[in-house]
Amino acid sequence: MSIKDSILEIEQDIKKLSQSDVMLLCVTKTVSIDNIMEAYNMGYRDFGENKVQELLYKKENMPDDINWHLIGHLQTNKVNKIVGKVSLIQSIDSLKILKKVNNRAKELGIIQDILIEVNVSNEESKHGFKVDELSSLFEGIEEFKNIKVKGFMTMAPNIEDEDKIRWVFSSLNKIFEKFSQLSYNNTDMKFISMGMTHDYKIALEEGANIIRVGSKIFGKRK
Ligand SMILES: *Cc1c(COP(=O)(O)O)cnc(C)c1O
Repeated sequence: MSIKDSILEIEQDIKKLSQSDVMLLCVTKTVSIDNIMEAYNMGYRDFGENKVQELLYKKENMPDDINWHLIGHLQTNKVNKIVGKVSLIQSIDSLKILKKVNNRAKELGIIQDILIEVNVSNEESKHGFKVDELSSLFEGIEEFKNIKVKGFMTMAPNIEDEDKIRWVFSSLNKIFEKFSQLSYNNTDMKFISMGMTHDYKIALEEGANIIRVGSKIFGKRK
């Protein structure tokens, strides 16, 4: 299927499965600039990359009106390169990295928008805050005046069990509701980012308002 037809199909799924205003974040890791431009020319302006170097290269070589999202684990030694260059860092997965991002944003005199990555399924191999760490994180969030928490991001386990995937997404939705109502300083809870190629339909049904889709749009990665 062409890039255009794949995107049209996902747009139909969004209409069918969700009542909300949903952002389709096109995940462009390993994708060539020419192919990304096909999505751009359909009107898309939000693209996600998981590596700092690749994101910055594409940002330099593509139109200025693109909103770049970092969706992969951020290493501490890359923080200074990326803060201020992206509209949303979706993958804040530890207090240590949150502090570094905040300090860098302070140096630059900006507010960096971020999402908190949550390891809902409690997998050892996954990055992200555990659900039971979130309360203390938010209780201390006031300290970080140069970040704004715009919501949560999660990845479901890479399994076939649809019930388990659905449980992960509906759990994040409940957690989102809870923390939205608490209105902490330095937060403005707007986004639940969940769902990728193999599970975005379930995510839409469970309240995602950002879905992050790569291979369904651009083809299998090498
Ligand atoms: C690669 C990636 C995606 C997109 O994955 P696809 O299965 O290709 O749609 C979504 N989120 C994150 C964090 C990723 O790294």
